Amino acid sequence: MKSVYIGLGSNSGEKAKNLQNAVKMIENTEGINVKRTSSFYLTAPWGRIEQEEFVNQVIEIETDMSARDLLDKLQEIEIKMGRLRRGRWGPRIIDLDILLYGDEVLDFAELKVPHPYMRERLFVLVPLQEIAPNIAFPDDGTTIEEVLGRVLAREGNGKITRI
Ligand code: ATP
Ligand code: MG
Ligand code: MG
Repeated sequence: MKSVYIGLGSNSGEKAKNLQNAVKMIENTEGINVKRTSSFYLTAPWGRIEQEEFVNQVIEIETDMSARDLLDKLQEIEIKMGRLRRGRWGPRIIDLDILLYGDEVLDFAELKVPHPYMRERLFVLVPLQEIAPNIAFPDDGTTIEEVLGRVLAREGNGKITRI
């Protein structure tokens, strides 16, 4: 069994509801147990900033699925929920990203873990810190708390509100 962290985001439609539905679908997947869920956070868009605010959340699951099977499953849920491919970092009903997959480091085009941008994203680090402040990155051993501390020192936390 692996402990896996998933980052959820929505900036279209009923955003919090979309996250709840996605968590239900993840929970109902055979071979996945949802262990912990963070609060919802209202966050400013990242990357392409001329779009609606996001609601974000991080959850911890336990699973014996391979990382690739899990990614397939998450993409299936995104599609079932009606996600259209409108380009990277564009508006979406739901985004489900694998943040950490046990202590594995994976570097394939279709699957990079730890998620390549998570160390810079308050919308990932803040909810992750809520449920798992002491876990360490498998590649360099820094903890979530340390990485978040650095980003907050640099940017402040004006762009994210717990709801
Ligand atoms: P970002 O990766 O910056 O959060 P995004 O979530 O908007 O961007 P998507 O359009 O959801 O990007 O996904 C683009 C591709 O990223 C997917 O087809 C998937 O194969 C790939 N990918 C690579 N690593 C991961 C990961 N850890 N979790 C989810 N998808 C990943
Ligand atoms: Mg994403
Ligand atoms: Mg994604």
